[in-house]
Amino acid sequence: MALSLYNTLTRHSDPFTPIEDALVRLYTCGPTVYNFAHIGNLRTYVFEDILKRVLRASGLAVRHVMNVTDVGHLTSDADAGEDKMALGAAREGKSVWEIADFYWQAFRADMQRLNLQEPDVWCKATDHIPEQIALIRTLEEKGFTYVADDGVYFDTSKLSDYGKLARQDLKALKAGARVEMSQSKRNPPDFALWKFSPKDKQRLMEWPSPWGVGFPGWHIECSAMAVKYLGERVDIHCGGIDHIPVHHTNEIAQAEAALGHQWVNWWLHGEFLVMAKDESGAGGKMSKSSGGFLTIATLVEKGYDPLAYRYFCLNAHYRQQLAFSWEGLDAAAHAFAHLKKTALELRKGYTGREKPLAAAMEEFLTACQDDLNMPRALASAWTMLRTPASPGELYATLLAMDEVLGLGIAAMQEESVGLSEAEIQQYIAARQAARKAKDFDQADAIRKELVAKGIVLEDGPAGTIWRKA
Ligand code: AMP
Ligand code: ZN
Repeated sequence: MALSLYNTLTRHSDPFTPIEDALVRLYTCGPTVYNFAHIGNLRTYVFEDILKRVLRASGLAVRHVMNVTDVGHLTSDADAGEDKMALGAAREGKSVWEIADFYWQAFRADMQRLNLQEPDVWCKATDHIPEQIALIRTLEEKGFTYVADDGVYFDTSKLSDYGKLARQDLKALKAGARVEMSQSKRNPPDFALWKFSPKDKQRLMEWPSPWGVGFPGWHIECSAMAVKYLGERVDIHCGGIDHIPVHHTNEIAQAEAALGHQWVNWWLHGEFLVMAKDESGAGGKMSKSSGGFLTIATLVEKGYDPLAYRYFCLNAHYRQQLAFSWEGLDAAAHAFAHLKKTALELRKGYTGREKPLAAAMEEFLTACQDDLNMPRALASAWTMLRTPASPGELYATLLAMDEVLGLGIAAMQEESVGLSEAEIQQYIAARQAARKAKDFDQADAIRKELVAKGIVLEDGPAGTIWRKA
């Protein structure tokens, strides 16, 4: 079995080999901590978690570094707009430091609920200002920077292969088609390494630097911290696809200009989660303004197990766009509940001495190693559960597969409500039938009977779901 991964840099899947035998240096761009992560953001982190687990299941050790963007990330990619941290602080009447800490902890809680393994190193941008300044100095010494009115910029015209990741047409960019041209820039794709604080105003977060008081540009933190914690050569760097044209393109430019050699061998990007279009045609981008800003807390409030969302993500390949709908999540939640029930049944026959079924494991891992083909891996898990083997062997195999799936098989418990999932579903179906027959008294009686048993039903756009009272 050989692991192959799709590399955005080469635009094809290649057999993966780390620079150093059996140790993978992995950097993933982390959250900007001015608000909760939405489930779109979290889809990208689920994909990165699967990557990490597949690397480990392939016999490789992983050193994983993730940053926390707690400063200098402006509302627009083009170095313009307001600081998101300051906006969060103003919105909630807290200090920027409180905002950063609160939303970082909230992010870690989401990670835990989705069974995402924490990185080996967390690094905050605000804890690494000297490293970022040192990197900018190196770039300055090598002649890649210029100082403008509002900051220090990276001169993209000095780097012959600028834009190689996104394969951007620089001539088109020069015509101003894609990137806003600010007064201070020499070339449209140039980007800020250091921004000066406004002369008449003290910013909430600012630091002295050799060029003046200000704050780092958005991209420099990742290059500086990746080099600090992973060294000058990185095996894999990940993020969502939106990072290809600007953030990762600029990370490559500044790191490779400073280091003088290729920096990252593999770039992996997760496709977006979008809102499925409804009858009115609404949907699309996941953002606050479109009403599609869904968080893990929203799912929990509606009675979903966060791991049902993880299951939902595993049903799509990470390089395919995934449309979110409540119907789709319901289907995933049902399949996940069925898996849970099966696992609990099988566990009764498990002694702890059974070995995973070799052929099933091979099929499963082959799918995982084929550029993380999790829909195929999940299907192979279901096929395995139907093979003629002892419950103990099936359970042992499911446990081994769960090292990658991360669905929490070992920790699953019987619901303490005293009814099985199937029994609850029978009640729900009987109530549906009563409502359809306009026998509302009977429907209400069924609902009350469930309440007495500690179960609350909720009717949503995608049908009825239950939760413990
Ligand atoms: P941010 O906190 O905005 O830097 O985003 C965190 C991560 O989520 C980045 O890797 C983004 O590329 C990714 N991301 C943003 N929106 C989506 C989305 N709708 N679906 C999947 N990933 C996303
Ligand atoms: Zn980054």
